[in-house]
Amino acid sequence: MAEKAVDVVVAGGGPAGLTAGLYLARARMDVLLVEKQAPGGAPALTEKIENYPGFPEGISGFELVDRMRRQAEGFGLRISSFNPLEGLEDGGDLKKVRTAEAEIAARAVVLAMGMRPAKLGVPGEEEFHGRGVSYCATCDAAFFKDGVVAVVGGGNSAVEEALFLSRFARKVIIVHRRDRLRAGGVLEERALSNPKMDFAWKKTVKEIRGEDRVTGLVLADVEGGPDVEIEVDGVFLYVGNIPNTEEVRGTVELDERGFIKTDADLRTSVPGVFAAGDVRSGAVWQVAAAVGDGVRAALRAQFHVENQKGTAYI
Ligand code: NAP
Repeated sequence: MAEKAVDVVVAGGGPAGLTAGLYLARARMDVLLVEKQAPGGAPALTEKIENYPGFPEGISGFELVDRMRRQAEGFGLRISSFNPLEGLEDGGDLKKVRTAEAEIAARAVVLAMGMRPAKLGVPGEEEFHGRGVSYCATCDAAFFKDGVVAVVGGGNSAVEEALFLSRFARKVIIVHRRDRLRAGGVLEERALSNPKMDFAWKKTVKEIRGEDRVTGLVLADVEGGPDVEIEVDGVFLYVGNIPNTEEVRGTVELDERGFIKTDADLRTSVPGVFAAGDVRSGAVWQVAAAVGDGVRAALRAQFHVENQKGTAYI
């Protein structure tokens, strides 16, 4: 179903998309934000965010993004939830945006679809997903009260979530393929000094074993030592992320890892299409940075639309 043209479609309702939406709505642009699920993005599943400026005691990820949503909606941003972007065509002045519910013509588009956790790709991962295999400690930690869980990965996500899990589980084993954590600073200090935390250094997961649910892991030694089997009630996987760009592949230029290439003004290879936040090649994957991207993409998209309409104030 074709709808009338809007000024800007924002795809993705995480911090980058909500910020772009806020700025565009406040500039009195006709803007629609489409979101795969409910707005909030990855931070909505983060228990506490301590490095977003302005909140010295930290703030729950959900509350932070909920405040962003309310602020944007307060200025008139329309949000269409459970309506994912399904395709994008460069139609010249009017881009064709296809979502699950509609085909929308837009003068400009801001792509802010973020990224999702990567799979490890080992036997048992798919089979036990939801039965001991999880990618979200904030969602599932409570199911492992007094249990033993493994966390795979050594980055910020793995360590943050391992610390969160340590509040519920009896023991948390970080399985990492190196001999030190990638996450440094405060997170590393907290993990290394946490009495519930164990470390399986220089190990990778070869197999996730179980019956009805996960019962253990087979770990391979990166230096060629013998495999070991450990008993766990659950395993949380944080081995990197994949950009949500399948729907725009072939329309905008992507880098070798699938993130959207932009210039310094967040323009993609298609005029009038901008990218912001984690989905952008070169992003630093921080909420504060995604917010900054959202501002820049919104201002550039606004200028693009006003130029097209002949209403730009120069
Ligand atoms: P990441 O930094 O890419 O870390 C992924 C981890 O998984 C690395 O330790 C990596 O090992 C390991 N890994 C990758 N493939 C693996 C495999 N096949 N088998 C075993 N281990 C594997 O991802 P992330 O932790 O999700 O963080 C993503 C970004 O978000 C980062 O820029 C991070 O700083 C940011 N972030 C920030 C915060 C915060 O500021 N509080 C919180 C969460 C995320 P190697 O170390 O050997 O590569």
